[in-house]
Amino acid sequence: MRVLVTGGAGYIGSHTLVELLGQGHEACVVDSYDNGSPIALDRVRGLTNGHLEAHEADIRDTARLTAIATAFAPDAVIHFAGLKAVGESVARPVDYYDVNVTGTLSLMRAMAAAGCGRIIFSSSATVYGEPEYLPYDEAHPLRPTSVYGQTKRMAEQILTDWAAADPAATVMLLRYFNPVGAHASGRIGEDPHDIPNNLMPYLAQVATGQRDRLVIHGDDYDTPDGTGVRDYIHVVDLARAHVAALDRAAGVTGAEVYNIGTGRGTSVREMVAAFSRAVGRALPVTVGPRRPGDIAAMEADCSLARQMLGWQAQYGIDDMARSLWVWQSANPEGYRGAAGESRASQTPSSEIRPKP
Ligand code: NAD
Ligand code: UDP
Repeated sequence: MRVLVTGGAGYIGSHTLVELLGQGHEACVVDSYDNGSPIALDRVRGLTNGHLEAHEADIRDTARLTAIATAFAPDAVIHFAGLKAVGESVARPVDYYDVNVTGTLSLMRAMAAAGCGRIIFSSSATVYGEPEYLPYDEAHPLRPTSVYGQTKRMAEQILTDWAAADPAATVMLLRYFNPVGAHASGRIGEDPHDIPNNLMPYLAQVATGQRDRLVIHGDDYDTPDGTGVRDYIHVVDLARAHVAALDRAAGVTGAEVYNIGTGRGTSVREMVAAFSRAVGRALPVTVGPRRPGDIAAMEADCSLARQMLGWQAQYGIDDMARSLWVWQSANPEGYRGAAGESRASQTPSSEIRPKP
């Protein structure tokens, strides 16, 4: 299939491109490089032999997006582009609603102009909010507690309403749990532009000496070792879930929603131990107070994805930790450390090739 990938130069997008191109799909990336890098796309190209074109553009620029989509004529869209920091979303609500909600509406207009009615959307387990029961299944009530979570819930609603209005439309809402790790090559990975908020990228920077120590945000939760429990999923497993969703989207209409996790909860201390094993030494850790807004534990019921998409996660936490360390030790400055690499994967709009 010809797949338009918004946000393809980011963490999950770049890993998904490797899997898509590996399966023979063709891809066209639209990314503002706000939090992604064209170098990631060059490296994706180096890891694959597939057709990949890329355009620097903001998804809110409907005219530009329409021109790109119309010229590429996608069979489907995978929509990663967005802002994703929970804390920042509370401080910058207008930006978050604008990019994540207005940006999604802009994309839908461009898709309509290009005659494309299939979309796979990056949603998040954060739409569930405080758990009423665990593991979360897809029927769990949606009560997001942050602006970020609200933007994902709104975008889900808009896409669901759109699918209800158009009998030919297909919407796959993928609710990701906690993506971590990197491609086994160490060529692509997560590249936070600021001080990381998330556990694993922060821990990776502790291992390289860029941060002094990890502060565990509370060890007095009602969990087996008192630290927070999450459902971590290897980013390559997550990437493959998109390929499975794309395959299904080719044969069905309507809106479907899937949890994408492993179904296994892991505590902060267990993740620290796994990463220490990968690095080969103990890492400096202290315990601090709870982080405001954090919940004690969450994990996914992924049985629906297994049943309907024929997908399930293959990798465990040691694979996640090892691959993260391969990436982080080879790229301690992320893609900024490779600024001299070519930007050949960017295709100016004038060179967009129409669908044959
Ligand atoms: P990322 O920041 O690495 O990738 C997002 C990409 O979108 C970046 O390349 C960025 O430059 C691009 N982008 C941002 N605003 C844009 C705009 N206005 N126009 C065009 N491009 C724009 O993030 P990621 O971790 O790869 O996440 C991808 C998606 O998955 C996001 O929608 C995120 O909310 C969702 N998600 C991520 C996680 C996670 O923990 N990483 C969890 C659940 C859901
Ligand atoms: N965490 C931590 N120290 C950090 C970052 C995170 O102890 O510097 C904990 C956090 O409290 C949670 C878990 O690690 O229990 C995962 O946090 P992350 O921010 O990665 O994911 P989220 O909370 O968004 O699921």
